[in-house]
Amino acid sequence: MNNSTENIIERLKEQIKDVKFDTLSEDIGKVFKVGDGIAFVRGLNDVLSGEMLRFDHDVYGLALNLEENQVGVVLLGSDTSIKEGDTVYRTNHVIEVGVGDALLGRVVNALGQPIDGMGELNTVSVRPIERVAPGVMTRQSVNQPLHTGIKVIDAMIPIGKGQRELIIGDRQTGKTSIALNAILNQKGQNVKCIYVAIGQKASTVAMVVEKLKEHDALDYTVVVSSTASELAPLQYIAPYTGCAMGEYWMDNGDDVLIVYDDLSKHAVAYRTISLLLRRPAGREAYPGDVFYLHSRLLERSAKLNEKYGGGSMTALPIIETQAGDISAYIPTNVISITDGQLFLNLDAFNSGMRPAVDSGMSVSRVGSAAQTKAMKQVSSSLKLELATYHELLSFAQFSSDIDPTTQKAIDHGHRITELLKQGALTKISHELMIISMFLNKYGYLDQLNVKDVAPFEKFLHKRFEASHQDILDRIKENYVLDDALVEDIKQVVENELESFKIAEHA
Ligand code: ATP
Ligand code: MG
Repeated sequence: MNNSTENIIERLKEQIKDVKFDTLSEDIGKVFKVGDGIAFVRGLNDVLSGEMLRFDHDVYGLALNLEENQVGVVLLGSDTSIKEGDTVYRTNHVIEVGVGDALLGRVVNALGQPIDGMGELNTVSVRPIERVAPGVMTRQSVNQPLHTGIKVIDAMIPIGKGQRELIIGDRQTGKTSIALNAILNQKGQNVKCIYVAIGQKASTVAMVVEKLKEHDALDYTVVVSSTASELAPLQYIAPYTGCAMGEYWMDNGDDVLIVYDDLSKHAVAYRTISLLLRRPAGREAYPGDVFYLHSRLLERSAKLNEKYGGGSMTALPIIETQAGDISAYIPTNVISITDGQLFLNLDAFNSGMRPAVDSGMSVSRVGSAAQTKAMKQVSSSLKLELATYHELLSFAQFSSDIDPTTQKAIDHGHRITELLKQGALTKISHELMIISMFLNKYGYLDQLNVKDVAPFEKFLHKRFEASHQDILDRIKENYVLDDALVEDIKQVVENELESFKIAEHA
C-alpha cells in the first residue's frame, strides 16, 4: 500500500469516527423492486429465514431469499398497494399459527385464520409452522393399526399409527375418497384429523367439508384450505400450517391423522415461488431443494415413544400422476420419503374395480407390524392369490381352452375382486371386514356365483350385526381367532349361506 492510499483510509476513518449507527435502522428496510407477488427489499441485515415482514397497508410477507445485499420476500397478500421505496418492518417472528382443540370442527386458511364464518378461534397457543422433525431417540416403531375402513387397504396394505402412506394415482381415480374414508373411520377412535387442501378447487374443498359434516366427522377434524385461486405462497405454507397443528396434539400424547391433498400442487406452488425469486431451476424446472421441501414435511410425522407421551401423527400425502407415470420427478421423490404407497390404477377404476388400489404396485413397508392378528390370519394369502389371478388372466386372453385348475384360479380371482370392491365413503368395521375375508380364507367364496358375492357379503354383515353380536364382540376382544371362534364363525356362515341360497331361489 502506498502512502496516498493509507492517507485516504486514515482520513475516512477519521470522518466516520463519531457516526452512531442507529440500531433500529437494521430492523427497517426499503422495497427495491416489487411484482408478481414478490418483493425485493434492501436494508434488512439481520432478518431470519422464514421471518414475517410487515409492509405498509398491513400486507405481510415471508423472507425466503437472504442474499448479500437484498432479501427476496414472498407476499402473503396483494402486491398492488406496495410501491418501490415503501418501508418494510421486521417482526422478529418466524411465521406462526394458533393451535389447540378450538380448531376442531373449523375450516381455516393457510395462516390459520377461520374462514367458515363461525366466529373467532380461541386457540390456546401458537407454534412456528416450520419445526425440526422429532429425533430418532424420541420415536418408536409403528405398533398400532390405523384402520381406514377400506377392505383392500386394511387387509392387504395395512397402515399403522405414525406411518406415512402415499396415495398416488391419476386424476379422478378416487384418491381424495380414500383419504376421506380414512378420516370418517376415525369416529369414536380418539384420533384427531386434519385435512389440508393445497391448490384444490374451492368446490372440492366445499364438498369435503360437506361430506365431513354429513358423516359427523367434522367434530374431530380441522380443514386447512388453500384453494387454487389463492396465492402460491399460501399454497406453499398450508401443509406446514396443518402439520404444526397436528404436532401440538402429537406432543400432548394424542393420535393424529393428517391428509395432504395434494403434494404435486404443493411442489408446483413452490416452483412458482422459486422461479419468481430467481432461484436456479433444475429438473422439470423445480428448484434443487424440492426433495427437502417434502422430506422435512413428512419426517415430522412420527410415533413418539412412551417417554415423550406416546402420541402419533399418521400422514396420508396424495400425489397426482400424469398417465400413471410414477417415475416422474415429484412422484419418485415422495415415494422414497414415505413408508409405502397406495397406487390407484385409472383403467381399473374405469372398469369398475373401485377402490382402484393396484395390489401389485402398492406396499406398506411398516404397517403389517401393526395389523391385527385376526386380520393376518384371514388375509395373509390374499396378495399372492390376486397376483396369480392377474398373471393367469393375461395368459388366458390368448388361449381358447384353459385347463380346469387354471380356470378355477381365475374364477376364484373374479370372486376375490368382487369381494374387495367397496363404494366411496362407506366404512366397514374391522370385525365385519374380518368376516368378509374369512369367506375367502375358508373357501366359502367359491360356493357363490360371482354376481352373488357382494349381495351375500351385505346380507351376512346384516345377519351378524342383528343376531351374532356376541361373535363380533369376541373378535373385538383382542382380535385373535382361536379354534373355537373359527368354528363358531364357520357355523354361522354355513347357516347363512343356506338361508341366502333359499332366499335367492324363493
Ligand atoms: P381429483 O384428481 O379430481 O382430485 P380424486 O382422484 O381425488 O380426483 P375422487 O374425487 O376421490 O378422486 O373421486 C372421483 C370420483 O369417483 C368421485 O365422484 C367419487 O365419488 C368417485 N369414487 C371414488 N371412489 C369410489 C368408489 N370406491 N366407488 C364408487 N365411486 C367412487
Ligand atoms: Mg382429489
